[in-house]
Amino acid sequence: MSKVVIDNLSNSKFKDYIEKKVRKTIRKYNLFNRKDKLAVAVSGGKDSTVVLYILKKLGYDVEALTIDVGVGEYSDLNLENIKKVCKDNDIKLNILSFEDEFGKPLKDLIQTFKKKGYEYQSCMVCGILKRHLLNRYAKKMKFDCVITGHNMDDEAQAFMMNVFRNDVNLAIRQGPMPGNQKSKKFVQRVKPLFFITEQEIIRYSKIMKFPVYYGSCPFSIDAYRREFRKILDEFEKKHPSVKNNIIRFQEQMKEKLKDDFKKEADIGTCEICGEPSQNKICKTCKLIEQLEK
Ligand code: AMP
Ligand code: ZN
Repeated sequence: MSKVVIDNLSNSKFKDYIEKKVRKTIRKYNLFNRKDKLAVAVSGGKDSTVVLYILKKLGYDVEALTIDVGVGEYSDLNLENIKKVCKDNDIKLNILSFEDEFGKPLKDLIQTFKKKGYEYQSCMVCGILKRHLLNRYAKKMKFDCVITGHNMDDEAQAFMMNVFRNDVNLAIRQGPMPGNQKSKKFVQRVKPLFFITEQEIIRYSKIMKFPVYYGSCPFSIDAYRREFRKILDEFEKKHPSVKNNIIRFQEQMKEKLKDDFKKEADIGTCEICGEPSQNKICKTCKLIEQLEK
């Protein structure tokens, strides 16, 4: 369906269209099945709220998993919204926090790094710690996979960033079911909204009147990614389907290269925490060491 046709669908037809597309992605990539225990990683934003709601509606065994990273009012508001969505839809909510796990909320962690001479971008620290906790907790709670709200815009931006950095190894790991090999160390992450655009998610969320905050995190200054977002949005206006073409190109490229990448060695294990890591010590444990020094 072209964008014009989609834009002209009635709200109820539009909702059906989105739900059907999610079902199709789950089926095509065999993302998970009805017996699986699914953890939806929810941030309080529109994307993860929409995917949580749709999977519950489709009858999957879902629980919500959120990490309170601790950036003041923004985090408090998100947590309140998530609690409401979970209560309204009868979904179990699991809450973790940086403060409980690492002793301090993100804004204090960043200050501590600064005092010790490490000028880290908060998004980088937040991303590493979040991924670590999601994987560790999902393994502990025996979830079969972790669902994230990544959408087509996120994925097209990520692909272009990989091209511009010449990072083919990272590009090959992207997709609705990222990674190129199964490992017991990782709980599989999956992205059922891979083929849904950000605009479509905003429309779905607004039709449903979900209590979500549409702004971005006050700590996020990911300027580099923002440039890609701007370029792609401008391109998409002039040449509709550009984002869709980018992610389809990525999927075809992966298919053609898959045999080369199967040969990669299994990832190692962090000597300190036992989580998967390419180096002897994982990025999370390195950060913790720096905090404690
Ligand atoms: P982001 O990197 O902020 O664009 O988030 C990408 C995805 O990661 C979201 O759609 C969520 O599924 C997940 N996510 C982000 N922040 C959190 C959080 N604080 N707790 C749990 N999941 C999160
Ligand atoms: Zn570690």
